[in-house]
Amino acid sequence: MEKPILFYSTNLMAPPVSFNKALLKGLAPDKGLYMPEYIPRVEKEEIHAFSDMEYPEIAFRIIKKFLTGVIPEEDLERLIRDAYDYPVPLEHVYERKYVMRLDQGPTASFKDFAARMMGRLMQYYLKQDKRNLLILTATSGDTGSAIANAFYGLDNINVAILFPETEVTDRQRKQMTTLGKNVRIISIDGKFDDCQALVKEAFTDPDLEQLKLSSANSINIGRIIPQIVYYFYAYAKLRKAKHEEVIFSVPSGNFGDMMGGILGMKMGLPVKRFVIATNENDEFPKYLQSGNYDKTIPSFNCISSAMNVGHPSNLARLVALYGGMMDESGKIFKAADMEIMQKEIWSTSIDDEKTRETIQNAWKEHQLLLEPHGSVGWAGLMKYCNEFPDEGGPGQLCISLETAHPAKFPQEIQKLLEFDPALPPSLEGLEDKLESFEHLDNDYEDFKHYLVQTY
Ligand SMILES: *Cc1c(COP(=O)(O)O)cnc(C)c1O
Repeated sequence: MEKPILFYSTNLMAPPVSFNKALLKGLAPDKGLYMPEYIPRVEKEEIHAFSDMEYPEIAFRIIKKFLTGVIPEEDLERLIRDAYDYPVPLEHVYERKYVMRLDQGPTASFKDFAARMMGRLMQYYLKQDKRNLLILTATSGDTGSAIANAFYGLDNINVAILFPETEVTDRQRKQMTTLGKNVRIISIDGKFDDCQALVKEAFTDPDLEQLKLSSANSINIGRIIPQIVYYFYAYAKLRKAKHEEVIFSVPSGNFGDMMGGILGMKMGLPVKRFVIATNENDEFPKYLQSGNYDKTIPSFNCISSAMNVGHPSNLARLVALYGGMMDESGKIFKAADMEIMQKEIWSTSIDDEKTRETIQNAWKEHQLLLEPHGSVGWAGLMKYCNEFPDEGGPGQLCISLETAHPAKFPQEIQKLLEFDPALPPSLEGLEDKLESFEHLDNDYEDFKHYLVQTY
């Protein structure tokens, strides 16, 4: 097999490691995030050939470029076919504007794409090494259920998931708390950022070393790489002219999704611009404009709850890709090339009022059914096309990402559109299942005590 691509830490104080090590560790020992030392290319001809391929075939061709030398191709292909057994609809809206629905997986969230692949890869390496892991994850809604589902019943892996008590919907909670087996769920009296802080502290606590903790948050490079694939897929399926460029709009919170897209562009996907739409947590649009970064503390509670992030955990990766260095606290040690970043990315903040109005207008004008996260993305795209009519005109291919199924937000949709969106089969029957979860205060010592007692 060829020489593997190594992964360096964005804090630059830990040795580079191969993919399987980065995957099982999650966070680098210096608290940095793993990034590929070298970004493999996808040539134009190869992208054109994707037009005739199914999703798993494209996934295999993209993912194997990062994993050469660390997994035999036939094993990787088998894991990919097992992970991606659901459709990826590309819905035409108007002109050349589309919505890519990433909500057809088992938990009706785009996070299934990453979680299912990562779960299978982790299990593969753990079995080989005859080792066990405890996956520790903070969720603001969709991560938790996607991870819980992706790892449920797997050998060699236990899962503990923290969620902010008041920031997830009943349905999101039930998707996690009704599983059982190797999956434990903990509600925290705090915000998502508090849950994330508890998890981060546990990772660096020497007293917990024997638990063999690993992260399944989007800080794990094993979640970023699978998220490159759907950008190639959408482009290959919708491209009409050979040299066409595409605009993607990505509703963003921790920026794992957008990192997939940006890496895709660096691999050779012809992207004209990324529109990065955040909710009222606008630290990124402000940073992109000014080069100065200030976290949003505390983060705002918006209806697009999975994007209520005051300090995106993947931002250090973006800064690294543009030649800068940011540590885990958000401190910038070396400025990124803001000029190039601004040329490739445009970012805007969408408030709740606009999010709701967009859900109503998209439905009225185009029979486009959006939930709050996808609405932030679509509103961002509409804003971009309005502000730059020469760039986002009728002939321009634009693809906005819908990251969850509208049926996961029934109260909001009911209020705005006066109907209940039909449940996808994956969410049926949840109401009748029995829930089981722990409750803890927002206190590290309590949390640590719980982990030590339980595992
Ligand atoms: C997690 C999530 C997002 C944000 O994705 P990031 O990778 O954190 O930017 C957007 N929408 C939904 C529905 C999500 O669950």
